[in-house]
Order: sequence, then C-alpha cells, then structure tokens
Amino acid sequence: MKYSPVQNFVNGKMVETTGNRFLEVISPMDGSVLSVVRLSVKEDLDRAVDAAKKAYPAWSKTPIKERVQVFFRYKQLLERNANDLAQLISEENGKTLSEANAEIEKSIELTEFACSLPQLVVGETLEVSKEIECRTERVSLGVVASIVPFNFPCMVPNWTIPNAISLGNCMIIKPSEKVPLSVSKLALLLKEAGLPDGVFNVVQGDKEIVTSICQHPGIEAVSFVGSSNAAKNVYRLSTQHLKRCLALGGAKNHLVILPDAKVDMTAQNVVASMSGCAGQRCMAASAMIAVGEVEHIVDKICEEAKKIIPGKNLGAVISKEAKERIERYIGEAEVAGAKILVDGRGCVVEGKEEGTYVGPTVIDYVKPDMAVAREEIFGPVISIMRTQNLEEAIAIENANPYGNAASVFTQNGGYARYVMEKASAGMIGVNVGVPVPREPFSFGGWNDSRFGVGDITGKSSIEFWTKLKKSTIKWNPEAGINWMT
Ligand code: NAD
Repeated sequence: MKYSPVQNFVNGKMVETTGNRFLEVISPMDGSVLSVVRLSVKEDLDRAVDAAKKAYPAWSKTPIKERVQVFFRYKQLLERNANDLAQLISEENGKTLSEANAEIEKSIELTEFACSLPQLVVGETLEVSKEIECRTERVSLGVVASIVPFNFPCMVPNWTIPNAISLGNCMIIKPSEKVPLSVSKLALLLKEAGLPDGVFNVVQGDKEIVTSICQHPGIEAVSFVGSSNAAKNVYRLSTQHLKRCLALGGAKNHLVILPDAKVDMTAQNVVASMSGCAGQRCMAASAMIAVGEVEHIVDKICEEAKKIIPGKNLGAVISKEAKERIERYIGEAEVAGAKILVDGRGCVVEGKEEGTYVGPTVIDYVKPDMAVAREEIFGPVISIMRTQNLEEAIAIENANPYGNAASVFTQNGGYARYVMEKASAGMIGVNVGVPVPREPFSFGGWNDSRFGVGDITGKSSIEFWTKLKKSTIKWNPEAGINWMT
C-alpha cells in the first residue's frame, strides 16, 4: 500500500473511525492498492458534528474580512502543493496529470471567488420612515454538510468549502469512498492556512453515512453532487428532516452540430468534451445531434478521436465495473443497429494491464430511443443522432430528463440564439464543448440534473449558505414616531 489508511479529520486532527467495514482504494491507472478506507458510522459523524458545533460560535463571529484571510493563504498553498496534489488526484481517480492540474487551477479560481465575498455580501439600509431604518444582513447557517462524487476529487469539494466556510459556516464533508485521499490533503492545507480546529471536518464513508448526514439534527444544510438517483434520495431525506438541500445530479449533454460549423474547431471541441477526464464529467458531451449534411464534420471527429491514446492523453475510468458498464452500452447500441465508427472496447495499456481504460468511441446512426441516446454513460463515448432540421434536434434534447448542459456549433447567430432559447438545460454553450461558467457566474443544471433552488457556486451559492436577517430600527426611542408614518 502506497499510503497509510485513510482517517477522518475531526477537530483539526486525523482520527480513527470506528466502523467495521473497510474498502480498498484502488488506482484505476494500474489496479494497484493505494490505501484502505474504513467507513464511518453514526458515532463518527456525531463526533465531527460536535466539533463543528463547538467551533461555530467563534468562527461565525469572526468578521468575514478576517475569515477570508484563511482562503487567501489556502489559495497560495494550493499553488505551492499543486504537483503533489495533482499526483494524488491522478493516482486515485485515474485522470491524466494535466487534467488533475486543471482541476487544481479551477479550485484556485473558486477560492479567489470566496476571497471576494466580503465585497458581495454587503447588506442594505434605508431610512424607511423618518428616523426609522430597515437593514438587511447575511447570516451563516451553522453546521453544514457537503457530499461529493469521485470524478473531481479536488474541484467539486472546492465548489463548497471556500464559500460555505468564508460565509461563517462550519463544515462536514463526505468524500467519495472511491477517492478519499485528496480531501484529506485539502484538510491539512486548510489547517496550515490557519483555519481554526473544528471548522472543517472530514467524515469518510459511503451511502450509509450519507443517510445519517441527511437525518442529523445538528446539521442545517446539505449540499450533494453525484448521480441523479442518489441526488433525489438525498434531497427527499434532507428536506423531510427540515434541512435546506441542494442536490446536483447526473447529466446527458447534447451538442447540436449545424452544417456551417467551423470544421476543425468543432471536431476538436466535440472530442475534447466527450473524452476529457475519460468522459467522466457531468459536463461531458455525450449525445451529438447532427443536423442536415454534416458528414465532413463527423469524418473529422473520427480523425480527432483516433488521436486520443489511452494511457497517454486519455486517463482510466474509475473501476472495472465502470469499464464493463460502458462497454455494455456500446455493445447494446451495436446490436440495436447503430454503427460504431471508432471503437474503444477491449482497451489494454501496455505495462498497465490492470488499469481500467476505455478508448474513445464514436457511435453513429443512434436512434433517440436507444439507451446510449437516453442514459448517462459516463465514459469517453459520443452517440450521434441524425436529424433533418433544428426543430427535431431541439425536440430530442428537450425530451431527455436531464438538463445540465447543451451546446450548439454554428456560425449563424440566429440558429445559435434559437438553441440558447429552446434547449432545456441550465448551462448553454455556443461553439464551446464544455460550457462551465467561470466565476463569478454560477454552476448548476436544470431538470433531473439539479434538485433544490439556486446554483452551487458563484453568487448564487451565497443564498444557499446564508439566511437573510431583516432589522427595523428606531434609533431614538423617545421620538414619538410610528414606524409606518
Ligand atoms: P454517486 O451518486 O455514486 O456518489 C456520489 C456521492 O454520494 C458519494 O459520496 C457516494 O458515497 C454517495 N452515494 C452513493 N450512492 C448513494 C445513495 N444511493 N444515496 C446517498 N448517497 C450515495 O456518484 P459518483 O459515481 O461518485 O459520481 C458520478 C456522478 O456524479 C455522475 O452521475 C455525474 O454526472 C454526477 N456529477 C454531477 C455533477 C453536477 O454538477 N451535476 C458534478 C459531478 C458529478
């Protein structure tokens, strides 16, 4: 084992958990055992919530300008530790080192946004009647929880950590049991940055501990990022226990390609979107709708896809089960009559025979009712559907239950605007394959890709992590003034 067993992080210290279920942490790159994680039980969560509750009064009363100083230092530590952190992310998740580095860069951008929060949460005051004033202020919630998936071991935790904590909350984070190492490293960096003990706590575990989080009376709010079924469960359970909840789910993102699209740029964007992070991005292009005569673009996409080499510029998928699932989808599409133009099945990387790689895969003549057209595959696979016009393309996009992202590739502003208006997705791209909004714009889908109100990052997240206090003040109690006069 390369790393010592993963522990919880409670009250500023790494601590043993008490559960009796263990999981090996396996590197998807070569199948080696990196570490072992002991899955937490309710008592472990209770300890973390107690620590967070104790830390909360002092942290929430620390002025926000002082709180964000921790994140100025954390940003510098992310920069200084980028190499080690990228190595760890790549080992436990299977993505390439450059993808891991991109994740850290995005984490730095998220942290920079949190450092700007004092400028954004300024309250309002107005003299509403003579000598009577109304004012508003944003107040933290208390102990909050963040439950995160495997596909971005560093970036998705940083969607919530800097904002929620800068805004005065104390946090319990539950990393994915498949990638528990990176968040442990983040915990140490936050401590080094000067975050007081108990403000940030890590509870390792699986869906069992998620249930305890959703039910815990000491937790005020739950944010979740993961697959849609789990997101629905977490949303239902947390709100049933009267917590506020924002649960981001899975995705099936459509790219609409028009005949006038710039060929090279479009093909490069489509392939980068479907194969980046081995297709394990909630923003990955998964379905492509080819409108009219776009044969020349499909040819170029296949040419570009063949330049993607597993083990070089394409990482591994997370597990053997994931590889089997992805290959099953491709096989079923073939049996149903689709044409496999580029086939990534049966991929073995020399010297990493135990790694779980799937090569880039392009499937053409997919029908909208096939599973590869409807369901999230979460692998480096693009399914091409053919339509005669834009209305049919939009009808296919709209019929899908997810709604994270949709993109259009065209040089025609009118067509682009039509797709922007009609697509049923929270994040739209025009000639952009992965339309992730950059800070301060917020991240969040629609439909089955998001349950709850608002987005998880950017300005929108301020509403989620705080509550609004409204005060009406008569500064001179002696004055015989009615507040309504
Ligand atoms: P997952 O749903 O299996 O797990 C996510 C988290 O929930 C993990 O911490 C896991 O321990 C826990 N969990 C698993 N099953 C659960 C259940 N039944 N009830 C409660 N908690 C449960 O997701 P994953 O495989 O880790 O990540 C991939 C999924 O996440 C994909 O569907 C992807 O689209 C989605 N995702 C969405 C976004 C977004 O912004 N919408 C971002 C990243 C990933």
